[in-house]
This record gives sequence, structure tokens and C-alpha cells, in this order.
Amino acid sequence: MRKVFLLIAVIALTGVVFGQDRDGEIKTKLKTLKVTCNFHKAPLTDVISFLQDISGINMVLDKKCDKNAKVTLSVKQIVLQNALNLVASQCGLSFVVKDGAILFSSKGEADRYFAAYADRASKKALAAEGGSNKTESCIKAGLEWLSRHQNTDGMWDQDGFDNNCDTSEGSAACDGKGVAQYDVGVSALATLAFLGTGHTHKQGKYKKTVAKGIQWLSSQQQPDGSLGQRMSESWIYNQAIGTLALCEAYAMTRDSKLKEPAQRAVSFILNAQNRGLAWKYKPKGGLNDTSITAWMVQAIIAAKVAELEVDQSALDGAINWLDRVTNPSGKTGYMRPGDDGSVIRGVNEKHAKQPAMTGAAIFSRLLIGQKRDDPKVVKGVGVLVKNLPEWNRPKKDKVDFYYWYYGTCAMFQYGGEKWQKWNKAMKKALLDTQRADGCAKGSWDPVSKWGMVGGRVYSTAINCLILEVYYRNARLNKNK
Ligand SMILES: [Zn+2]
Repeated sequence: MRKVFLLIAVIALTGVVFGQDRDGEIKTKLKTLKVTCNFHKAPLTDVISFLQDISGINMVLDKKCDKNAKVTLSVKQIVLQNALNLVASQCGLSFVVKDGAILFSSKGEADRYFAAYADRASKKALAAEGGSNKTESCIKAGLEWLSRHQNTDGMWDQDGFDNNCDTSEGSAACDGKGVAQYDVGVSALATLAFLGTGHTHKQGKYKKTVAKGIQWLSSQQQPDGSLGQRMSESWIYNQAIGTLALCEAYAMTRDSKLKEPAQRAVSFILNAQNRGLAWKYKPKGGLNDTSITAWMVQAIIAAKVAELEVDQSALDGAINWLDRVTNPSGKTGYMRPGDDGSVIRGVNEKHAKQPAMTGAAIFSRLLIGQKRDDPKVVKGVGVLVKNLPEWNRPKKDKVDFYYWYYGTCAMFQYGGEKWQKWNKAMKKALLDTQRADGCAKGSWDPVSKWGMVGGRVYSTAINCLILEVYYRNARLNKNK
């Protein structure tokens, strides 16, 4: 027998706007509608239907919610959002406003993501996963180089970072300028290199560097949530990587000042997606590619870690796209099944063909939650281990930091012996190739496939991110 039952509801509606935007109306109600209720060990469904009746808002429990979970709630005149938070926290639920309703779901998934960045500052996983003092000292030198080459306003200037070079002791200024249209994306990548090893604008030796970086990125946000000026189509990389940095910074610090810019940036991404599929340069432009999609996936996952509002169907769309461009041997293409990826003619077409898109696909699949033993994952991993990182001197045509980033992230998420094999090759390729001389000390020469676009800042930031793999993202896929 249920024992409940004093239900009193007093409703005060203030400032509710009945506009056309149903979700907007619901969000307004959540903040303005005051409720009084008194439940004692009442079944969750009774409490939800009571709150639904007095608010006039549809409320839906997903399949995994325990509908008979018991709720005790005795409150007077509190706003609906706080009442729902109290109900949700007792039942291990979270809720979002979507499609004209409030949807409750089990927090199991949110918790899985929430722990994602927990080991960054402590580096607990470092040794067990194959990192070492040497990987850490390279990251330290890399961050120091990045910090020395940041402008005072917080930006890393692709074609002007060398204005910050120290030539006082006869050292040459650093070479390796990148392309200015990626200032936002590369500044975001540099900021991510600090976040990835536990530095935030609140903690760590580089908190001023990170604070300036985030401040500059936020200052680039346009009224529609997009980041930076659209100087070319591939501007979208700025959006994806900038959003990832804002979401990670917010997830790690929960600094309320970052919540709104991070949400607006990720909402822009969600709105730019081709329905049921993925992304390319133009928002909702009908075309898709795997490279930008993998950055979008990372940004959306970071938003989930930050408990921002995201739509799971966006990730389902990304998987649809990856399935479409993966050939039967497990190789994922850039725009067509198993193609060899993108090149700029006359610039980087002589670089060896490496399965960067397969790395991007496997990392995305495992972040989203596909099982490690899924045949597409297993076959893709098979493609990656046949193409281990190698700094092949003197030709260096196999040097491809972009591939190594995705391959490393994918193989780490996959784990096991194949990861160990990859890790050994990756360390050999990166640890002894970092510059140790003059002002360039701590950076990597931009000799990789996309080095002439991203320059020295990109090369150094992405290689730090690669070496942070041991603790940057916990393994999100526990299904193994
Ligand atoms: Zn320099």
C-alpha cells in the first residue's frame, strides 16, 4: 500500500510568456512558476503527474527510469526548476527541455561522462597506461613554449606568434607560421593542451595563460553562438575546436560565466548538423565529411560532460555518417567509403596516405559509446595498427600529427595489447623529435601533413594533446 498523501498545491504564475517557442515557454516556466508540495515516499510517477498537472508541461520518463522510485518532497513556494532538481536528485535522474516537454533520463549515462576529466590534474592513470616522466617532461616543455608565444590578449597568432620570440641571446626567432584564418581553432587547440593536463583558469601554474586564452575565445563569439569571423569555408574548424575548449573549460571548473557561451557554441553546432547525418563546412549545407564531424563529436561529448543541453540524436547522426563512409575492410573515408582523405594539391599531396579518417571514426564511435567488440570498431583498429606512427627520416612523408592524434585517442579508448603497441610507436615518433634548442625549445617543427596550414603552434598543441592521452579522457566505453 502506498503511504502518501498530503498534496497541497499553490501555484503562482508570474511572467509566463505564451509565445510560439514551446521550449522557450517551458524554460521560462521552470524559472518562474512557484510550487508547493508535500510528498512522503510517493512513487515517482505520482509526483511527476502532480507536477505535470499544476504546470501544464508535458513530462516524460525514459524507459530506464525506475517509475516506482520513492520521492519525499516537502517544499513551499519554490520555483519549479528547483523542485524538479530535488525530485531528480533523489531518483538518480537528470532532465532536459526538448520538443515541448521535459524529458527525464537515468543519470547513469551522465555519470559515465562526468568522470571523463577526473584524472587530468592527478594524472593517476599515467604510469599504468604507458606514460612516463619523459612524456610528462615533453608536455611541460611544450606548454612552456605555447605560453611564451601567446599574445597578451590571449590569442595564439598563427602568422604573428613569432613577435613573442625571445631573440635576446642570439637565438633565431621561431619559424613555422600558420594560416591566419585558423587563429580561433589553433588558439582553442593550444588552450585544450593546457586543459588536458589539468590546468584551468582556476588552478595550476598556467592559470593566467588559460584565463587569457578562454577570454580571447569568448570575445570571438558572435550573436548566433558561432566563433570567429568566417574568412573561408573551413572556418567551421574554428567553431568545432573553439566549442570543445569552452565546453571543457566549463566542465572542469563549472565557472558559471562560461556556461552560457559554451551552451550557445554547442547549440550552434547542433543547429548546423545535416538532419540525421553529420557536418561539413556550410551549416546544414547537405554535404558531410568525417574530419570535421569527429571534432563536432568531441565538442558534443564535452558538452555532455559539462551537463549542457545536447541532443542525443546528434550523435546518432554522426554514427550514421561514419557507417556510410566505412568500407567492408573497416577503413573510413573522408567523404566517400574508404577514400584516402583530403589533400591540398601542390601543398601536401606528396605525404604518405594514412588512415586518419579511420582514427577519427574509431575515436568518435568509442566516445559515443559503441562497444569495443563491435565489428566496425575491431576492423578499424586493425587498419590503424597496420599504420603505426613513424617519424621516417629523412623523407618524413609519414609524419602526420593529425592522424597520430586521432589514432592515439582511438587506440587508447580501445585499450589492450594493440594500444600498447601503438603507444610504443607513438612515443618513439614524438619524444625525440621535440625541439630542444633556442626559442623553439619545447615546440615541434611543422613538418607534418597539415603543418603548413597549422604551423608551429598547431603542431606543438596537438602533440601535447597526443602525449596527454593517458589521462586526458578516461575510457568512456566500459563495455569490454
Ligand atoms: Zn619563438
